[in-house]
Amino acid sequence: MKRKLFFRFFTVTLASTLLMFIFGFLAVRLNTQKVMTERLVEETKIVALLLNDRSEFDEFKVYEGNDKFRVTIIALDGEVLLESDTRDILENHKDRPEFQNALNDQPKTVKRYSETFGCEMIYYAMKVELDNETVVLRLALRSSEMTPYLAVALPLLVLVLVFAIILSIVISRFISAGISSKITAVGDSLKSLNKGEYAPIKADGSEPEFYSVLCEINELNENTHAHILETERERTKLNKVLESISQGIIAVNSKCEIVFANKSVVSMFNSSANNKILLDLIKDIDLYNKISSDIFESHSFEYKYGERDLSITIRALFDDDIKISSIIIITDISNERLVARQKSEFFANASHELKTPITVMQGLSELLLDEDLSDSAKKRIERIHKESLRLGSLISDMLKLSKLEKGEDVDTTPVNVNLGNIFLEVFDELSEKMAEKRISYTINGEANISIDPRKIYEVAENLSSNAVNYNKEGGKITVDLLENDSLVKISVSDTGIGIDKKHIPMLCQRFYRVDKSRSKKTGGTGLGLAIVKHICALYGGTLEIESELDVGSTFTVTFYKKNEK
Ligand code: ADP
Repeated sequence: MKRKLFFRFFTVTLASTLLMFIFGFLAVRLNTQKVMTERLVEETKIVALLLNDRSEFDEFKVYEGNDKFRVTIIALDGEVLLESDTRDILENHKDRPEFQNALNDQPKTVKRYSETFGCEMIYYAMKVELDNETVVLRLALRSSEMTPYLAVALPLLVLVLVFAIILSIVISRFISAGISSKITAVGDSLKSLNKGEYAPIKADGSEPEFYSVLCEINELNENTHAHILETERERTKLNKVLESISQGIIAVNSKCEIVFANKSVVSMFNSSANNKILLDLIKDIDLYNKISSDIFESHSFEYKYGERDLSITIRALFDDDIKISSIIIITDISNERLVARQKSEFFANASHELKTPITVMQGLSELLLDEDLSDSAKKRIERIHKESLRLGSLISDMLKLSKLEKGEDVDTTPVNVNLGNIFLEVFDELSEKMAEKRISYTINGEANISIDPRKIYEVAENLSSNAVNYNKEGGKITVDLLENDSLVKISVSDTGIGIDKKHIPMLCQRFYRVDKSRSKKTGGTGLGLAIVKHICALYGGTLEIESELDVGSTFTVTFYKKNEK
């Protein structure tokens, strides 16, 4: 770098020094020529003043054999009257340019090659009036007469050249060293930034422009360094969070290569860190196939990995900037599943155990009611009978729910069911209650569905009985049925008390009731919507609830045909 800079500076200064030398030499040469020409003109004029008569021609013999000067006197017809150089053949001179200039009274110096002298000569000629005639006086001077003058100037010029070259070497070294040290300082500062450190460039104010540039670079480096530190801190924070969570997290790129895997996922699969291949990390070909077949689509599924139950959620990102295409979140739900199973089993066992005594209580209370009893005893027995009926339907709902949860009670041969007829049956069943509250109903549209008829009856019965129980006096129920190529939709709307929005997400939880006392009064078990939700899930359907307080509610069940969703 330093050498390159030096050679560049040196080449430039050397070139300019040489140019100066050449132009200097040319200037000296031109000046010498000018001085000599002027001398020739002056000398010619002096000689002309001294010349009065032809008799004085002899005096010019002193110029004979003079190598520097040559004197020629020419008659107006070009005949040579006198020639100081005896070597010249005295031919007619009327064609000589200097002679012609003199005749036209425009005397000028003329430079041309002289055959006689065998060198370049400078000529000057002018008219001279003698006593009784006019002649042309011509003086000539060798061009080489300049050489001694140049010989004096040349060593001086060479000396200047050598001095200029030495000076240019010194200056080039100085400038290149100065610039390269500054560039090296900038480079060092950038290198340290690359290592995550900040080393400001030392700058003095002797060169204000350069100083301000260095200050700008220092400020930029400082900001970048602060930014790097901040990013580093954020990354550490994020890594700590990702490492400390119990869920396994894997990030993959568009080639399905692992970009990131946290500690939990590594220990979950008892694998080694730094695995780049997904299969090497999870070591289960079925799980790998399940994940990789749809890795760029967001979805979730559960997987039995040995003894463990895993919940796998895939989130597609498609973020080219961070080179992550999908994130796989793996949660070990073995404990939750165990607790849920235990709860469900307890639920099922308790219901089963309670079923027989309650049936006995119902039967015995019915028998007792047929006997001749006092009014107060009859009232008590009636109460026992009513409560045992309520308990009976609660136990029956509990059993239904636990069977649905366990995946039992699934009819393998579905039947084509007309939904309109199902609802007519249900409303017939509910007719007494509806008459009491003067509730009317409408069924719009038609739809058929291939399903276990007991289950769809259960759905229709639960939604309709709720629409009756939570309706107002004189209220209305509207059932809208819709069937197309892809789905079957059932909507049950009422003009009842409605539900506050905050309760809607919890309505399908077991025993969740908005108003417990009202639910009890209506004979509700708090399990109806949970059963509906489970039946929907069983057939890949959905349940949506819309409601407005004091206006009414709409429960919409959608079943998708041919698994389209
Ligand atoms: P329940 O046997 O108590 O009716 P459900 O599971 O069927 O149990 O319903 C849960 C709760 O949702 C009910 O207790 C009630 O508060 C609310 N609910 C259900 N249907 C309606 C409706 N149509 N209008 C208003 N509230 C309703």
